[in-house]
Amino acid sequence: MKVAIRDDDTCYFTAPEELERVYRDVWDQVPVCVATVPCAVGYERAGIPKEHWRSGIPFPIAQNRDIVAALRQWAAARRLTVALHGFTHEDFRGGYEFQAAPDPDRRVRDGIAHLTAALGRPISIFVPPHNALSKRGLAAVSAARLNLLGSFLSFRPTLRPWELRTLANWWRVRTVRARSGRSKRDRFVYPYVLRYRHHAEFGCHSLVPGTTEADLVNGFEEARRLGGDFCIATHYWEVDATLKDVLRKVLDHCARYADVRFVAAEELFA
Ligand SMILES: [Zn+2]
Repeated sequence: MKVAIRDDDTCYFTAPEELERVYRDVWDQVPVCVATVPCAVGYERAGIPKEHWRSGIPFPIAQNRDIVAALRQWAAARRLTVALHGFTHEDFRGGYEFQAAPDPDRRVRDGIAHLTAALGRPISIFVPPHNALSKRGLAAVSAARLNLLGSFLSFRPTLRPWELRTLANWWRVRTVRARSGRSKRDRFVYPYVLRYRHHAEFGCHSLVPGTTEADLVNGFEEARRLGGDFCIATHYWEVDATLKDVLRKVLDHCARYADVRFVAAEELFA
């Protein structure tokens, strides 16, 4: 069984110490997939200076030499891998970036170019900002041959570009969900990779304020019973002592099983 961690929102505004604070006793055991914003436009959240919440100014990550140097060093030490997390992560009138931006294809292309130039690492995973993706957004990700790491990816065939595998995958998700006794409205993380013609998808279990050790242990145990894999998704900037404690205990729980392999998220798609 594979177990991975994804951490979102590293960008120009991230100080290396913020990642170090959360992962220094984790990433030698579990490499963290750091979903990085290549050209962040500020929005309202902890860790972004207030004057940039609405300034609209894009900040390429390459302009923050400290975070770039740290990411390069940690990636070389296999403590982390880098995924693409939107292009600017900005919100539009009509929705989040990959729901409402007029040019998702350009954003994926430029995003990959920015990150590979700054960090010198291949990018194979896309994490949608706010886990939100329109049909066009998904088509852009798939066209770039990036795999998709979501959280609680809802499976509405109408929200997907049509391809033959959509129907088969929809049926797979539906069957496993029904067998678990859940209705369509109940939260459900499908524990296997869904493969499409040009990309694959995997859903993560969120670690956010309010998530308990039991929530994640139950998610892990269910994935385990089903013979699936398990990935935790969080944001370093909201991991306080309580969440860190939850993360540590869940990883300790997973590590008790001899067949659990802690892997970089890229390996979930192998
Ligand atoms: Zn984000």
